[in-house]
Amino acid sequence: MRWSTAYIPTLKESPADAEVISHKLLVRAGMVRKLTSGLYTYLPLGVKAINNVAKVVREEMDRAGFQELLMPMVQPADLWKETGRWEFYGKELLRFKDRNERDYCLGPTHEEVITDLVRGEVKSYRQLPVRLYQVQSKFRDERRPRFGLMRGREFVMKDAYSFDADDKGADSSYQAMRDAYVRIFTRLGLKFRPVEADSGSIGGNFSHEFMVLADTGEDTIAACTACQYAANVERAAVTWQGTVCTASCPPWQAIDTPSAHTVEEVCAQLGVPATSLIKTMLFDVDGEAVAVLVRGDREVNDVKLKNHMHATQINLASPEQVKAWTQAPVGFAGPVGLAVKYIFADNELQGATDYVTGANKGDTHLLHVSLPRDVQVSAYGDFRTITLADPCPRCGGRIETPKGIEVGHIFKLGTKYSEAMKATYLDVNGKEQTMIMGCYGIGVSRVVASAIEQNNDAGGIIFPPSIAPFSVVLLNLDPKKEEVSAQADALYAALQDTGLSVLLDDRDERPGVKFKDADLIGCPMQLVLGGKGLARGIVECKNRKTGEKGELPLADFASAFAAWQQQVLADWVVE
Ligand code: ATP
Ligand code: MG
Repeated sequence: MRWSTAYIPTLKESPADAEVISHKLLVRAGMVRKLTSGLYTYLPLGVKAINNVAKVVREEMDRAGFQELLMPMVQPADLWKETGRWEFYGKELLRFKDRNERDYCLGPTHEEVITDLVRGEVKSYRQLPVRLYQVQSKFRDERRPRFGLMRGREFVMKDAYSFDADDKGADSSYQAMRDAYVRIFTRLGLKFRPVEADSGSIGGNFSHEFMVLADTGEDTIAACTACQYAANVERAAVTWQGTVCTASCPPWQAIDTPSAHTVEEVCAQLGVPATSLIKTMLFDVDGEAVAVLVRGDREVNDVKLKNHMHATQINLASPEQVKAWTQAPVGFAGPVGLAVKYIFADNELQGATDYVTGANKGDTHLLHVSLPRDVQVSAYGDFRTITLADPCPRCGGRIETPKGIEVGHIFKLGTKYSEAMKATYLDVNGKEQTMIMGCYGIGVSRVVASAIEQNNDAGGIIFPPSIAPFSVVLLNLDPKKEEVSAQADALYAALQDTGLSVLLDDRDERPGVKFKDADLIGCPMQLVLGGKGLARGIVECKNRKTGEKGELPLADFASAFAAWQQQVLADWVVE
């Protein structure tokens, strides 16, 4: 591609709404433009990067024995009603009616559509397994679209589905995907980690997220420094090592705490540490009022609560609900005399005695609360989020909590959808059996953003070679000089002949502009040709990742370039 005729609208300034570096750079490098919240137009460079990711994904899916298909983005409500998700999916599902007043939605995922397809076609064990995937735009009306391509409303996803006759088959489909994902993210040059993920009400150890490690990640990983254990903190189990407290304390007593709503404010007023407080968090769990108690310095883990209750919908109680349930303003909820359906408490509060809690009365707290004496706790359990001070649940080692961006999620679904939608087959004995499913997603457009989060500098993007829109950018510094342009054109042709994608900057611009733009768009290899170099018989080269510069002789360009290219690629090998 010649830059003079290309559409690559680079910008000096970042957009005002961009918080993370990938969003800023995607816009500045002329790769995307915002249409409206969560909706982006992928400009030519953006499309190239996305297609490059999709290419690697497709190759590895095919290699794993999955076949590509393409399902409609628009889905009929009837299928979603069969699985119950029409009701439960919530506001992320964009629903609308057609001209005949029939309900439809834009596909956020395709379990229903694919299960409908397979149940109609597959009748015998001989036809199993079925392993299919697609690469397609998904729509989710996210509550907080942000960070550019990281959390869009419309985004490109690869979604794959497997249907197996039995558990053993389902496990091997899962393993095939797990291996394929490791190959994909390795080939894409990303530093990533597969982590155990929450598998919700389905249970079992059959869900892994693939996290790209980056400080801007929205997810936190609990990773052991001693063993291989890594899990999303949503899921990481807290091993309780303490003993049940058997101490006693004076009767509880109310104390004025004017305007003290938060743990910090209460601690400051009463002069006690957060470890002396019990925090009472209220949730609406499938329409029931539920309280969870944790120590003042801990965080309630709502995923653990959801799983404990086998719940479908869980939300932090709204201010109105808090007022209705506690008869008090927000910030003063406490377990003593609290009339809710369940009061759960974290393991470490077993026997908890002499704690400060809310009083269910404005501007008031209680001193000397003893859980065994004063509160009817429904159950103790693991209800809090792991901290750095907790041991690895597998080996007891020290854990770290790096941030990650979820780029992929693989899931053994079991029979959740096949049972609801009656996707059955006849086994070898002619007996009807339910198919075992798996689903496997990759956020293709999010991968592009994650690669930028991991690889950038003050100059701009540093694309891994497998994602870069162009492998080489060739700067012609003197496009007005005929001999320089003739040589640049010759190099451009020669490079393309080797199968590389090349961007020739033949614009009538100052060298400074060209250098800046080349760094900004992040192609891994830069070649610079000007009148002076030509006179000396060389073209300059720069490795975008390391910044290393060199000179390639024009006389022996092909082999000198090939050797340099090997070095550049070697710098991208991820251990
Ligand atoms: P998240 O927890 O980030 O909302 P999810 O668990 O809802 O993601 P999945 O249903 O597992 O996502 O979708 C598969 C993949 O699609 C995710 O691993 C992620 O890479 C990508 N993805 C999900 N939502 C978005 C989004 N709003 N924008 C871009 N990519 C997304
Ligand atoms: Mg997920």
